[in-house]
Amino acid sequence: MDKSKISASEYRSFTGLRDSVSNNIDNFAKSFEDALCVLTSDDLAPLVELVAWCESPNLFFTRSNEGSVTFSRSIQASHFVFNIERVDGVNPLANQDPGNFSPLGAELENIFPTRGTNSYPYAYEHIAQVFDHPCAPDVIAVHTAQHKYDTNLGNHGSLGVIQARAPFIACGPGIRRQGFVDDHCRLVDVAPTILKVLGVPTVGGIGPGGIFQDDGLYLTRQDGRPVDRILEPGFNPQRVLVFLLDGCNANVLYDRCEGGELPHISGLINRGTAFRHGAISTLPTVTLANHTSLMTGCFPAHHGVLHNAWWDRQLNRQVVTESITTWHTAMDWLTPATETIHQALKRSRPNSVTYSVNEPADSGATWSTFEFFRQGKQMDIMPDLAGPFPLAHPEVADFSPHTRFGVVADTMALNHGTGLWSGELYGQTMELPDFCWINMPLIDSVFHDTGPHSELSRLALLETDARIGEILAMVERRGVLDDTAIFLVADHGMEQSNPDITESWNPYLERAGVKFRDEAYGFLYINP
Ligand SMILES: [Zn+2]
Repeated sequence: MDKSKISASEYRSFTGLRDSVSNNIDNFAKSFEDALCVLTSDDLAPLVELVAWCESPNLFFTRSNEGSVTFSRSIQASHFVFNIERVDGVNPLANQDPGNFSPLGAELENIFPTRGTNSYPYAYEHIAQVFDHPCAPDVIAVHTAQHKYDTNLGNHGSLGVIQARAPFIACGPGIRRQGFVDDHCRLVDVAPTILKVLGVPTVGGIGPGGIFQDDGLYLTRQDGRPVDRILEPGFNPQRVLVFLLDGCNANVLYDRCEGGELPHISGLINRGTAFRHGAISTLPTVTLANHTSLMTGCFPAHHGVLHNAWWDRQLNRQVVTESITTWHTAMDWLTPATETIHQALKRSRPNSVTYSVNEPADSGATWSTFEFFRQGKQMDIMPDLAGPFPLAHPEVADFSPHTRFGVVADTMALNHGTGLWSGELYGQTMELPDFCWINMPLIDSVFHDTGPHSELSRLALLETDARIGEILAMVERRGVLDDTAIFLVADHGMEQSNPDITESWNPYLERAGVKFRDEAYGFLYINP
């Protein structure tokens, strides 16, 4: 049987929760088959890299216009393992090389990767985890690496390596001094690594195989594992400081560092370790899903913040997490077993002081920017939108409303970061933190608007480096730099879009008579 051609009766076996009336199921199955047929047609190949769906809790399908792969998931030694059950034509997920298109020269030589040249690190696990969420879509449509969405010259969200690859730098006490190494980790590895650096004891919980284990975890639900190869065993600093540069292309960042343009970030690399192939984010490679993965060590479907938006079948409504009106409530969607770094640290060190600057994934923080939003006091902390913006380039601030928002947010990050480490913010005494997380969204704004390789993106990196330098100088002034491990990461990468590929698949589906919702561009709910 060709399992890639799903029938109504087969689908009925696992959609009992989704549809209870047989007519609905038959309608659903027809729409589902029509949708797959349209999305994997040769006409849409420039738009659709591949589609993926799930036939039972542990059997998954991925198809492009060139072929398909069926893969299964099982548990071995408390971890998920994946087996290829069948390939027809070209396996769209065959190349999973995390080192593909690295360093920057290799990316620029392949500026618009095709399905034949792209790679999809951890694709089997990253697709499978989506379907563990009760609100998983019926079909995931993954846009091509080249696809240009809206007016964006830079894009992410796909499975391809450039959109998935975030930078990963760590330095300071407890971290080995290796400089650049040709290595990578995953975003879900960051939280357990930070907790291990801080000397947090392990606990029992739901581990990387989705089942309970008695011990060995740093968080009560954990998909990642500590990156032991960067750690100096037996040396635990008192504090950790994290910089999250939203949407930062790792190749571009590293190239600017090696060109001598970013002295403060280069200083972190010289004092520690940078993974040339970065930290790989999870499908969908978008902001809220992967900020929360960084903070919890869990894949999006497991921590609960599935995407920037999704359709909740039980509530029968759209959920939006990534918007200016909902960021501050995004953590309401965390699953009960999930812990943040703040919560895990306070479980073992109840008197810990933790700060969350500009970060929606803030549950358990002692002080958080977004707490002001939850209390309706955001105007008390927002910089004046008219400026002045210290360290900002006027060309960046004045380019678009989007880049101005980024400059305002990063100015707030600078004010809060230096204030919190100085010991006083808004007239309040602030204790030195055990853990401080600073999210800086400017890079994402500028890389989206102008593409990651533009002159404006270079300026955005220069001013981000300067803001990081100011915050590090304050840490040094307080005399605790030698007792603070520092991490620099992003939530996903950013890839140059092809201005010739701007169509949407939605009109094609509508013309084929498919009734669907497309949430956050690519999570398709059939006959919702
Ligand atoms: Zn982002």
